[in-house]
Amino acid sequence: PIVLAVESSCDETAMAVIAGDGRILANVVATQIDFHARFGGVVPEIASRKHTEAVVGVFEEAMAQAGEALGTAPLQATDLAAVGVTQGPGLVGALVVGVAFSKGLAAMAGIGLVGVNHLEGHLYANLFETPDLEPPFVASLVSGGHTMLVHVRDWGDYEVLGQTIDDAVGEAFDKVAKALGLGYPGGPVISKLAAEGDPRAIAFPRALLHSHDYRFSLSGLKTAVITYIEAENRAGRPIDMPDLAASFQAAVIDVQVSKALTAVEACSLDDFCVGGGVAANPALRSAYAEKLGERGVRVTVPPLSACTDNAAMIALVALRDVQAGRLAELSMDAEPNWSL
Ligand code: ATP
Ligand code: MG
Ligand code: FE
Repeated sequence: PIVLAVESSCDETAMAVIAGDGRILANVVATQIDFHARFGGVVPEIASRKHTEAVVGVFEEAMAQAGEALGTAPLQATDLAAVGVTQGPGLVGALVVGVAFSKGLAAMAGIGLVGVNHLEGHLYANLFETPDLEPPFVASLVSGGHTMLVHVRDWGDYEVLGQTIDDAVGEAFDKVAKALGLGYPGGPVISKLAAEGDPRAIAFPRALLHSHDYRFSLSGLKTAVITYIEAENRAGRPIDMPDLAASFQAAVIDVQVSKALTAVEACSLDDFCVGGGVAANPALRSAYAEKLGERGVRVTVPPLSACTDNAAMIALVALRDVQAGRLAELSMDAEPNWSL
């Protein structure tokens, strides 16, 4: 079966087409970053409107790309067996655009409909790097809206070991970048600065490092960074941006790596993977490879392009559900708070 996947949970309008053998035939991402950057974060009303504007063009592009990959004319809706759409979690006004489009397409073409969990998509992105990745394993989800450690018992069978009690890791990167006047999103610009800085220059707090559980807390770290910036400004001292970025990033990474190590050992597992936009962070990727690698754990991270939001990862989950016959009703709706 050929399946179209639709993703509109946040600020990317994305569609992908997947063939029955798992080959990605099309992968289109229209990002709205430029429209949100001057606000220092995603503005829900703008996201919703931009999805509405982009959805038809992205669809046509994806269907053309898929046709090209198959050496045919652009695909028609009736060439598809189903459409799989991110049903949640995410911004409700953003999700409903993709959901309404997908329901309309399914009804019009008489094809199947599948509702996909966005976080499960982030997990599945690891299959693009390690196709033979098989549960059980431990996964870390670190994104703009989530920070959690998950025991993946099987595909579709998830035990959330613990999560953040306040901000998500990506959110902390975004808020620190905003405080430094570096725009949105914060992750890429801070990680670039951090590569030139000294991670030991400034001692920032490692919240809950020794809490003996899998809870995370990022808001205190964000406040500590902002307080530091304000104090330096008041004292008239110039801020060493690379050192600040590296020290902030190191505080985040120390906690992430420490709890990941505890989790793989507590679950007696030797496979670990990472999903979500923050998985693109080079220092986090190498810290996992080094610290978990030296304990004999195989570490998988998604290809860079599959870390942040995309529909190819959604397509993997949608194809699984189509092949298992797990279809949704046309009456399904966005689930903004859908958990894993
Ligand atoms: P969720 O998946 O929880 O619904 P989201 O879809 O908005 O949230 P993603 O697209 O998965 O989030 O990830 C975006 C986040 O990833 C942003 O907060 C961004 O700053 C962060 N990010 C992207 N690249 C990097 C990087 N190199 N280092 C750190 N963070 C990064
Ligand atoms: Mg995004
Ligand atoms: Fe995401």
